[in-house]
Amino acid sequence: MVSPGDVQRLFLQAILARGILSENLAQVIWKKCVEAVKTTDEGVDVSYSDSEEAWDDFIQSVNTSLNDLDFEFKSIQDENTGKRLFAMVNRKDDELAQVATDYNAVEITYFKAVVEQIMLARNESYSVSSLAALREVSAGKEKLNLTKAQAEVLLGSFVANGWLLRSKRGRYSLSSRSLLELLPYLKSTYPDEIVECTICHEILTKGIACQRDNCKTRMHYHCFNTYRKRKGTCPACSIEWPPTDKLLLPVGELAVRDGDDKRQVRDSSESDDNEDIEEDEPPQASTKQRRRRSQAAKKGKSKTDADSEEEAEEKDDTDEEEEEAEDTPPRRRGNKK
Ligand SMILES: [Zn+2]
Ligand SMILES: [Zn+2]
Repeated sequence: MVSPGDVQRLFLQAILARGILSENLAQVIWKKCVEAVKTTDEGVDVSYSDSEEAWDDFIQSVNTSLNDLDFEFKSIQDENTGKRLFAMVNRKDDELAQVATDYNAVEITYFKAVVEQIMLARNESYSVSSLAALREVSAGKEKLNLTKAQAEVLLGSFVANGWLLRSKRGRYSLSSRSLLELLPYLKSTYPDEIVECTICHEILTKGIACQRDNCKTRMHYHCFNTYRKRKGTCPACSIEWPPTDKLLLPVGELAVRDGDDKRQVRDSSESDDNEDIEEDEPPQASTKQRRRRSQAAKKGKSKTDADSEEEAEEKDDTDEEEEEAEDTPPRRRGNKK
């Protein structure tokens, strides 16, 4: 005996087996599931249509079934191609359980450290060089039982499993899979670093920023291209915008400048010591946050320095790196007028 619920069951099995997949493929799978159920029992009340509305309805019915399990069949637009991708996402998981199925504890600690350097990267570059990624083997407070050669293999594996992207220049950044599946973790761990697209409100790690100081507008390239055809001014500050994204400020790898690969340490990492954090800070303060971080680094008595002093006792070369970091100028968007 088959029932309409069998379409969902077949569909979810196929999706789980694939991890992340394109919208096109997901729709093809849905169609095949309907056909399979119809083959068994022509009378069963299920149907397939290639209309957008029918697809949305189907997604909604899938998510209604998943609701009690805290899972969601969720999508994200790929930041490079603009293509919509789908995956099954655990809405509550802020502990990286997805990654844990593929890796052991040491490997996960290393993964987290690399993700941290990506999220804390200066100038919203949201990327890390391979050298900086390998440095994380010995740079953190937690000693990792990994050689650099092993770390290199691991980085390759993170890329092969779709958690990280490696660019032509050899820089690592977060993949669509990570942005989709690890979003609860990223949101809870890096609330001040996460940036949202002004247009689609999805997380943004590659795209453009308005060229005006302190303007919060950020857009994916695909969102910018759609928006720019309609309007020539920034939606937030109304400043005149150039015709192409090339002339706006980049977010992502293109925003990297020399010296940006100094190791970053989180303001409040592993401590409840929040004395540097202004309590009345507005929620959307990523730009401000970054500037504050570099000012604090200059000031000489910040949490960052306290961290590095502690580390210095353990490891001398770390100390050197942190000292160099103090001398690098504040981020570009902090240019004074
Ligand atoms: Zn967008
Ligand atoms: Zn603006």
